[in-house]
Amino acid sequence: MRLSKLFGKTQREVPAEAETDSHQLLLRAGMIHQVAAGVYSYLPLGWRALKKIAAIIRDEMDKAGGQELTMPVLQPLELWQATGRDKAFGKGLFTLSDRRERKLALGPTHEEVVTELVKYNVQSYRDLPLLLYQIQNKFRDEPRPRGGLIRVREFLMKDLYSFDVDEAGLDKNYAIMLQSYQNIYDRCGLPAIVVEADSGAIGGKDSHEFMVVVESGEDEIIYCQGCHYAANAEKAVSVKEKIDNGKPLPVEEVATPGAGSIEEVANFLKVPQSHTLKAVFYIADGKLAFVVIRGDLGVNEIKLNNQLKASELRMATEDEVIEAGIVAGAASPVGIKGFTVIADDSVNSGTNFVAGANKPETHLKNVNYPRDFKADIVADIAQARPGDKCPECGGELAATRGIEVGHVFKLGTFLSEKLGALFIDEKGVSKPIVMGCYGIGLDRLLAAAIERHHDEKGVIWPLTLAPYQVYLCPLYKEGSRVEEVAEKLYAELEEAGFEVLFDDRQESPGVKFNDADLLGIPLRLTVSPRTLDKNSVELKKRSEKEAQLLPLEGIAKRLKALISD
Ligand SMILES: [Zn+2]
Repeated sequence: MRLSKLFGKTQREVPAEAETDSHQLLLRAGMIHQVAAGVYSYLPLGWRALKKIAAIIRDEMDKAGGQELTMPVLQPLELWQATGRDKAFGKGLFTLSDRRERKLALGPTHEEVVTELVKYNVQSYRDLPLLLYQIQNKFRDEPRPRGGLIRVREFLMKDLYSFDVDEAGLDKNYAIMLQSYQNIYDRCGLPAIVVEADSGAIGGKDSHEFMVVVESGEDEIIYCQGCHYAANAEKAVSVKEKIDNGKPLPVEEVATPGAGSIEEVANFLKVPQSHTLKAVFYIADGKLAFVVIRGDLGVNEIKLNNQLKASELRMATEDEVIEAGIVAGAASPVGIKGFTVIADDSVNSGTNFVAGANKPETHLKNVNYPRDFKADIVADIAQARPGDKCPECGGELAATRGIEVGHVFKLGTFLSEKLGALFIDEKGVSKPIVMGCYGIGLDRLLAAAIERHHDEKGVIWPLTLAPYQVYLCPLYKEGSRVEEVAEKLYAELEEAGFEVLFDDRQESPGVKFNDADLLGIPLRLTVSPRTLDKNSVELKKRSEKEAQLLPLEGIAKRLKALISD
């Protein structure tokens, strides 16, 4: 490709709207263009890189036994209503009506459609197992599209679905997919770690995410320094230390003038915050939820909502709390009526807690669960934090940040049961098909690759993802020998199968080198009167500082050898 003809311009200025390095570089290198919030066009350079990712994924899915097909973006909303996942996705689901007022959804994922498809094509255990996949655009109405390609509303996704006769089959395919995913990230030059994940709106039991560790990542990862435990903070668990406060004593009311927050109450009564219970208030689909948790712990909203299953959950405002008749600053689950009370299981981690008295500036000592109050739900809804103890080995937990580049789920049978996707087993018994699903967002993988591989000058593409492998950069005046040699080299390298970006522009060396660095093509070949005096060309790898001279003769062979190293 001749750079003078390439569609898309490089930009020296850092675009003001770009929040992350990958966003800035994608815009500056002319790889993407924003159409609307979280909606992008790909220009040729960006699209070439994205197609490389797609080819790697396709290859690994095929090797794992996957069969590629394609399903529609437009899906009847009824299918989503049949599984109840229209509610689970909530406002994230794009919906529309056709001219006959029939409701449709733009697919955020394809479990429903593929399960229907399999239902009509699988009858017997002999038709299973099956691995079906597609690479196709998905739509999610993100509340806050951000970070360029990190969180978008229309994106390219590879989604594979596994269908098995039993759990053992699912486990086997799940393990195969975990390995295939590792292969994909390795081939993309992206070290990704596997973490336990919340299964969210997709549903199912086991779920893992693949994370690329980068500071700008939007996900917090909690991991153990002593063992392999790692989980998304949304899901991470830690050990809640037992609080030994002796045998349960009778409840005692104490005045706590001026003390409202847990910190103030603990200080006033001279007890650690871990000896208190605090009340926190949320609005779940318009209804107030009364949440109780040990004073030193924080509520994890994802875990909380896994209990409440609301399509919208947020903290209640002070006004909403007061309006509900709750005594702010001294709210207590003891004696409270008319609310759904959700307690973190830390209410069971000790005795004789301090809690509110539902009276202004008054608290209760020696509150014990379940003697003094009953919760409608008791579950782990606490945030695991760095410094906490590991649930597996007791070691110390730490935190880092990452970008999620893949998510896999053991769905089990809840979708096949709801949609009636059954098969007849060896004994003639009808059973629901056991399912798994496995997604990779390609746009996000591209962004993660740039987040991991760049410097202040631009992108540093891994060879496998680079839109072009060679940046041919002659420094010449028209009609010189440099031009002649460069044209010959261009033809020779293309002939040898290289993807070459030929900077045939009449620009200064400074401009050309800056663009070469910005675009991040792995191998830069410079031809100049100086190199030709030595009958050679200069090779500089984008990932290295030093350049070297290579003899002109047999350059294609030499480059091939370099690439295969
Ligand atoms: Zn551990």
